Amino acid sequence: MTTLAEAGAALAAESARYAGLGWMRGTSGNLSVVLDADPLRLAVTASGLDKAELTAADVVVVDRTGTAVPDQPRPDRAPSAEAGLHARIAEVSGAGAVVHVHALSPVLAAEYWPDGVELRDLEMLKGFGRAAHDDLVTVPVVPNGQDMRVLGDAFEAGYRADTPALLVARHGVYVWGADLTQARHRLECLEWLLRFTIERTRTR
Ligand SMILES: [Zn+2]
Repeated sequence: MTTLAEAGAALAAESARYAGLGWMRGTSGNLSVVLDADPLRLAVTASGLDKAELTAADVVVVDRTGTAVPDQPRPDRAPSAEAGLHARIAEVSGAGAVVHVHALSPVLAAEYWPDGVELRDLEMLKGFGRAAHDDLVTVPVVPNGQDMRVLGDAFEAGYRADTPALLVARHGVYVWGADLTQARHRLECLEWLLRFTIERTRTR
């Protein structure tokens, strides 16, 4: 079981890494860790803060709807509105961690392929949890919106257990895994795969 203090420290450290990659510009993006599965409780990075400078206390505990629960150390901290989609993804996929960043390549890829981004025959697919050969991976794309229930329904409609990512058009990407480390490894590889696919299309 992950304690809130452990989760807060891990979320701050991971956020700093993503900020260093330029994937959490401004105060954008958010990361979460599942604290309890039943009832679902997630520790989510607090809203409106610079993600390079979070402390272990800059975390909010939310329920399955993304609403802050009252019994927590910092009930004054606001969760991001996007916490609702984190919770939905964790509930549907059974993931232990969900990461959401505003990297450029996922948004460009969603722009080019709004019906889903197809990836295949690339070694880096192994890092995304798929095969390097003869395995067509389609990363789903959903339209952007501010209602997390609508986004959550769109996510669930296109969900496949073997594809741990969701592109939100004109917005960013969600990736999930058993823990924050696995989610980051998958996101790092997916970002490379998307960048490759975009560059190859441009230069062909
Ligand atoms: Zn976002």
